[in-house]
Amino acid sequence: MKAVVTGGAGFIGSHLCDHLIAEGHQVVALDDLSTGCESNLKQLSGHPDFELVKGSVLDEVLVDDVVAAGDTVFHLAAAVGVHTIVDRPLESLRTNLHGTENVVEAAVRRRARYLVASTSEVYGKNDADGLSEDADRILGSPLKSRWSYAAAKGLDELVAYVHGGASGLPCVITRFFNIVGPRQTGRYGMVVPRFVDQALTGEPVTVYGEGTQRRCFGSVFDVVPAMVSLLETPAAHNRAVNLGGKEEVSISDLAQRVIDLTGSDSTVRHVPYEEAYGEGYEDMRRRMPDTSLAADLIDYEPRWRLDDIVGSVLEDKRADSPAAHAALAS
Ligand code: UDP
Repeated sequence: MKAVVTGGAGFIGSHLCDHLIAEGHQVVALDDLSTGCESNLKQLSGHPDFELVKGSVLDEVLVDDVVAAGDTVFHLAAAVGVHTIVDRPLESLRTNLHGTENVVEAAVRRRARYLVASTSEVYGKNDADGLSEDADRILGSPLKSRWSYAAAKGLDELVAYVHGGASGLPCVITRFFNIVGPRQTGRYGMVVPRFVDQALTGEPVTVYGEGTQRRCFGSVFDVVPAMVSLLETPAAHNRAVNLGGKEEVSISDLAQRVIDLTGSDSTVRHVPYEEAYGEGYEDMRRRMPDTSLAADLIDYEPRWRLDDIVGSVLEDKRADSPAAHAALAS
């Protein structure tokens, strides 16, 4: 295939580019390098089947031009991370709403099949034991910017879905549940790389609130091949499909696991939500996926356990540390 990956320099996008190239496909990554970074793609630089185009999904002319290079579009570009959404609400909304509209409309014009990456955030505060794809969305107050990501991504799904139905093109929406792995940065939220960074530098590990909130972390290495399989499976077309892991953990327990796995002498510091995200922040108490639809469609079975997922982040951070570079250079 000739694939276009928007957000290709981001965390999940760069792993998708690696996977597609390893499978023998041609790839054009489009990324404005706002939260993604070029170093995530350094292993592909100079590869004859790979190209990075630096630019924004908000640039309609550029998007149309880039999408023309492919027969398949993976749309992963988005303003992500709770800190990004809360600190830069307008910019986040623009990217997440108009960016998706531009990419999907270009895909439809060019008759390219497409996948739109969505998120478990679309379920909002629904804390059911195993959220299936038809679970209700329960959001807080409409004007709280905290919910803008969930609201925008919900609209993105509709844009993808309605265009998919009208055009008859194969399209898939994937809902990611707290996906983690190498190259993920803790700068914009994302608790696992944050905790690993804190533990490695001996700083206190910052648990927001009481730490009783629960999450189920999934590995990027489980979800990347699943994205490609879903797009190649007609029964998955014009559907939203959950992708994630299966081991649930409280954030307090996660903090302790990270401290133990790193062998760090960091302590745990509880930080009130207001201090972390500002006044009136509402957290999800629990977010646990039901991935049985993906299992039915493509035999999806998450292989990565929590300790191995944390281990993959730890290994990556250690390999990237100045001390490791110095050791390699000597
Ligand atoms: N969290 C935390 N400390 C941090 C960063 C995040 O306790 O330094 C919490 C956050 O409040 C949430 C959970 O960890 O309850 C997962 O946060 P993340 O931003 O990774 O993903 P979310 O599930 O909120 O989208």
